[in-house]
Amino acid sequence: MNLLHSSGVVMPTDPKQTPYLLGGKCSNCGTVVFPKMPVCPKCRRNGTVEDIEIGRKGRLFSHTIARFAPKGFKAPFFQIFVDLPEGPRIFSLVGAECPVEDGVLEDGMEMRLVVESLADTPENKDTLTYKYVPAAKSGKPRHA
Ligand SMILES: [Zn+2]
Repeated sequence: MNLLHSSGVVMPTDPKQTPYLLGGKCSNCGTVVFPKMPVCPKCRRNGTVEDIEIGRKGRLFSHTIARFAPKGFKAPFFQIFVDLPEGPRIFSLVGAECPVEDGVLEDGMEMRLVVESLADTPENKDTLTYKYVPAAKSGKPRHA
């Protein structure tokens, strides 16, 4: 049994499989949506949207650094949009392994999905969600 979290991310119990997002693909027109919804937003058919595994990787469309945190978050933090190869452009946060600094992210770079707490705060540390991090270790080594 794979575990589906409320955010729409699926954690496979098989350790050889990597997490993915549960999207929907319309069997009538081929539109891919995330999160999954019962009615196709494009052709308006009902019952044609089938489960599809998406989002293991994506391409960074745009990003910004939020300097003020809403309740339950810590600033600064990245907010990004990721273009998934399956079609959807989704909003996401960035994984903790990625330092929140100017120049760390570059629009167009390859990203990969990770699963972690929504935020390292009492309100959100127990809520698992999807985030993205750069797929390749960046060329900027960090020295303490
Ligand atoms: Zn459709």
